[in-house]
Amino acid sequence: MYCPLCKSIDTGRVGNSHFYCWHCLIEFSISNREEVKIYYIEDDGSLVDMSEFFREKCTLAYKGS
Ligand SMILES: [Zn+2]
Repeated sequence: MYCPLCKSIDTGRVGNSHFYCWHCLIEFSISNREEVKIYYIEDDGSLVDMSEFFREKCTLAYKGS
């Protein structure tokens, strides 16, 4: 799985459908419909949904795949 933001393959699986990018330091998940969700990780480990903020980039990244 490659990162929807930086396109790096330097990612790791952290859950069923969650992945972590070592470059962006964000978590992301891909739904069945290839809908991308981006999560910023707070200092306390909680996830903040940043999908709306990155919506345009993610759509571009996965277009045609
Ligand atoms: Zn990345």
